[in-house]
Amino acid sequence: MGSKDSGNNSNSGSVSNGNSNGASDNKQALVAPHGIKRVVIKIGTSTLIDEKRRLKVAFLYDLARQVEELRNKGIEVVVVTSGAIGVGLRRLRINERPKDIPTLQAAAAIGQVELASRYDQAFYHYGIQLAQVLLTRYETAGRESYLHARDTLTRLLELGIVPLVNENDTVAVDEIKFGDNDTLATLVAAIVDADLVILLSDIEGLYTADPRTSEDAELLERVGDLTDDLYKAAGGAGSAYGSGGMITKIKAARVLMAANIPMVICQGSRPNVIHDVILGDEHVGTLFDSDDKSHHANAKKLWIALGAKPKGSVVVDDGAATALVDNGSSLLPVGIKSVSGEFEPGDSVNILNSDNMVIGRGLARMGCEDVEKVHGMNSRAIADDPQLKDLSDQVVIHRDEMVVF
Ligand code: GLU
Repeated sequence: MGSKDSGNNSNSGSVSNGNSNGASDNKQALVAPHGIKRVVIKIGTSTLIDEKRRLKVAFLYDLARQVEELRNKGIEVVVVTSGAIGVGLRRLRINERPKDIPTLQAAAAIGQVELASRYDQAFYHYGIQLAQVLLTRYETAGRESYLHARDTLTRLLELGIVPLVNENDTVAVDEIKFGDNDTLATLVAAIVDADLVILLSDIEGLYTADPRTSEDAELLERVGDLTDDLYKAAGGAGSAYGSGGMITKIKAARVLMAANIPMVICQGSRPNVIHDVILGDEHVGTLFDSDDKSHHANAKKLWIALGAKPKGSVVVDDGAATALVDNGSSLLPVGIKSVSGEFEPGDSVNILNSDNMVIGRGLARMGCEDVEKVHGMNSRAIADDPQLKDLSDQVVIHRDEMVVF
């Protein structure tokens, strides 16, 4: 596995754009190729399907050509693709996306056949063998099944094969659904310990403001620190690019930055886009690459963050938030202001700060009822209470089973 240091252009500051610090003079790919051994490329529906819901076959051949170029340079590739439902609906001659789940799942089952077969034709043309891998949270929520998925994907890569991954929409119900392929691509990157994630989308990257309404909007070339403001701007009300589309990408970026895996959002329709991101001589899209290389979430922590759907959440006070994020501490009852949801020991739980922003996720060591009883109390007060004293030396979430974003 190569180094996680992608060797970016290291524009100073946590956020940079072409006009502010001379970065535009520096004509190099955002992500230098050295150290990049394994890449996850996620293809969004809008990149893959035209307005008549036909698969863009020329795009697929061009994708395959660029993937082959990477492979010739010794870089392994995993493709995460969307599009099954869209293609299936066209085959069924259904124009409006239906709301009922069985029809959507039927459409996914129909569309996935065409999707995989068209990819196969294009990749086979360039001598690449694909393998279809359909995942749900069911396979990734349990530690054991997660490890099986990891072993299979790793073996496929060792065999020189390109895994073609999608969510198994046909069987996924809400409980086990990732829901969007940005999250799925993040999980796949964690599973295979990728060095880079590229999200091919219909947008060029992240802007300082909505480019459709603001003349001053500038494309951010690099984000090194995903501040609350940036996070809110991408998802907040009144932001036209704050659709589900951008917010799931920002969430993906946040998890990947915690793991020190760089991610690029770029426009899939741009000719030679993958080549340009990794091997080219100009900036493409927005690179998310953490300035803070100190806390690298390992694969187990990423699995905690992404594998299972959180069953509940705890809101922590400012002191606890600082201790978790800056000092890598475990979460103690005293730092918790409130608790919600229904969870047992071992379940995944979101950690929120006092602004209700998710700042981390981890596996609870106490069930929600116990957390409810002891939250806000220090260990002395818990020990002094005869009803609670058994809980006095327990942490709510241990630092080894927690990822902070
Ligand atoms: N898995 C869905 C499909 O293949 C797409 C989900 C997404 O676009 O994020 O149709």
